[in-house]
Amino acid sequence: MTDCIFCKIVEGQIPTEFVYEDDKIVIFKDIRPKAEVHLLIVAREHIPSLAEATQDNASLLAHMTLVLPKIAKEQGLNSGFRTVINTGKGGGQEIDHIHFHLLGGGMLPKF
Ligand code: AMP
Ligand code: ZN
Repeated sequence: MTDCIFCKIVEGQIPTEFVYEDDKIVIFKDIRPKAEVHLLIVAREHIPSLAEATQDNASLLAHMTLVLPKIAKEQGLNSGFRTVINTGKGGGQEIDHIHFHLLGGGMLPKF
């Protein structure tokens, strides 16, 4: 997707420091952090949102989920972390490329 910011980041067209990367995902800091630690787990594949994900994406979604505790531990989030997946306009999604937010550090407000 040529006009997708996250595709451009994945492809290296927008220089971004990755906290972690593998063949399925990249992880980098959110540009407007809402917590001491605020990372984005972004699929390399352009899937617009969770609403468009299918059974074919099951192993990718499991991977995105299971990497969270490992990255949280590396970031020193020993007392826990929050995961957010905004989906669609009504869910507050700004960038239409599937991603998870990983938030933590300090006391997050009650949700
Ligand atoms: P969402 O509202 O779930 O689509 O979240 C998109 C997130 O991407 C927001 O929290 C933005 O602050 C973040 N963001 C947008 N552009 C960039 C960028 N170039 N680098 C890092 N984070 C970004
Ligand atoms: Zn994309």
